[in-house]
Amino acid sequence: MSAAPRPCLLQAVLAAATVFALAALTLAAWITWRETSVQGWAALGLPWLALDRLAGVHALVPALAAAGVAFALVLAARRVAVLAALGARVRLGLLAHPLSVVLALLGAFVLPGVVARGTRPVPARQAPNVLFVLIDTWRADHTGFLGYERDVSPSLDRLAAEGVVFERAMAQSSWTKPSVATLLTGLTPSKHHAVSQAIPEKPVRAFRLNPRLTTFVELLHGRGWQTAMWSDNPNITPPIGFDQGAEHFRDYFHEPCCPERCGELPEILADVDAWFAEERDASRPFCLYVHVMDAHYPFEPPPEFAGRFDANPSDLQLTGPIVHDYMTGRRSEANLTEERLASLVARYDEELLAVDQRLGAFLERIRREHPNTVIVVSGDHGEEFLEHGNLGHSHALWQELVHVPLLLWAPDLAPARVATQVRLMDVCPTILELVGLPGALPGMQGESLLPVVAGRESADRPAPMEVGGDQKPCWQWRGLSDGRTKLLRREHDLPTLHPIPPIFPDDGAPRPCAHLYDLVRDPRERTNLAAERAADVSALFSELERRGWYTPPETLLGLKASALELDPELTGELSALGYGGGEDETQAP
Ligand SMILES: [Zn+2]
Repeated sequence: MSAAPRPCLLQAVLAAATVFALAALTLAAWITWRETSVQGWAALGLPWLALDRLAGVHALVPALAAAGVAFALVLAARRVAVLAALGARVRLGLLAHPLSVVLALLGAFVLPGVVARGTRPVPARQAPNVLFVLIDTWRADHTGFLGYERDVSPSLDRLAAEGVVFERAMAQSSWTKPSVATLLTGLTPSKHHAVSQAIPEKPVRAFRLNPRLTTFVELLHGRGWQTAMWSDNPNITPPIGFDQGAEHFRDYFHEPCCPERCGELPEILADVDAWFAEERDASRPFCLYVHVMDAHYPFEPPPEFAGRFDANPSDLQLTGPIVHDYMTGRRSEANLTEERLASLVARYDEELLAVDQRLGAFLERIRREHPNTVIVVSGDHGEEFLEHGNLGHSHALWQELVHVPLLLWAPDLAPARVATQVRLMDVCPTILELVGLPGALPGMQGESLLPVVAGRESADRPAPMEVGGDQKPCWQWRGLSDGRTKLLRREHDLPTLHPIPPIFPDDGAPRPCAHLYDLVRDPRERTNLAAERAADVSALFSELERRGWYTPPETLLGLKASALELDPELTGELSALGYGGGEDETQAP
């Protein structure tokens, strides 16, 4: 037998290794160039590269498989002499040179680790864990530790007594997607662009959290924290971009679900426990995000809580279609007498009590078993119960929609009550500072709250707010509260697929139409002072512009529209929550 094939085979193996290593390096460099704001190789979608392999997080199997494919391709190319047929010569000699192989392999498996270690600080030994709990649709004035007369939050009241309570925290929008994106990024809605409701299969602008932005989950992941997220909200999902930086994301909304109460708090907490038991890597701090949807309508308190605040509840239920009716000016359906409305509010409170009771035990356990944990419990927006003539949320910026509870507990923070007005966009930089990072990163619009907590800063922080996307929600409002006075501007409407329903008393007024409220004397925003205090209107609007927080609605039209592909079966569920595909959208021109 001839000995000639042996060196060829060896050469092919060596050349394949070189080609594979160079390809891996090129791919890594390209992705790094595209995602400059993200640090860490796993965050770049390359968990199998050196750093994670060395860290023992992932097996080398995918890399070996890729090398095998590359090897097979080189062999095949050589056998059929494709390149030779084209007049080229395969320079196996150079690729298979031992020095090339060693350099390429060294580059691919060591360089990423060295670069990543240089750009991704390892968390300090005592770096705290982070637990962020988002209670959807949580009104500040329905919270015990903020003065509500009903006992809806005894457990959270206890945590509040040992933590920091922000009595006047303002959301930057009045529905989930923009508000949570602000919490995660420290940016106003116009800057993070997650402002529109996706309408299945229809091109819509600005409905996704821009992947080039960085959430605090992603930042901490890039710095070595173990990250996980759980969400039952149709907007806080991977297709909308909210899984950035999450090593584990449980999206209940898009999962087929057998049990009736799938995605409710007991199931989520059981899943968090399972994560601790099965996936927790004790060598790293953790960063967890838990999105609780239980208090969002429809208000169906669990049996053990039903009837606590209303022994004879009415048969009225707040559903997506009823909210939709109200928002389209059709108000005949619900026969919404004062008694029936009170019954509805009682059931909302019973839902809040159920959340409190279930969450309370969990938070106690986290504090006991993981005392070095920063805990944030926050609302994303409130709910309207006809205070300004409407139901639900997402259509306006009244106080009942933007004033939300915000509670912070950290091992080194003394209990405090902060009366200063703060913003949800301050939460992200606050978390970063509490875990030992510099706080607000360049470009972030929020600022760390620690100077406020420490009493070094006592002036109300001006709170911008806005609502209105492309198509839905269609009402365009911009606003600024300086803590004492609040400006709201109803802006020009954008062209939409569906008619904009008249639901506000000043719907016919010329736009932009200003509202001005004295929050000290008129906290319920009953008397519009815009006409008599034109100088204040103009000063607040100038402030909004000067700080770079004002974006006219027309700016949206300059963004590229795209469509979200959704399972058609989910469309009905979206409508049930007041989100997405209603009849008017499909029938409108
Ligand atoms: Zn929400």
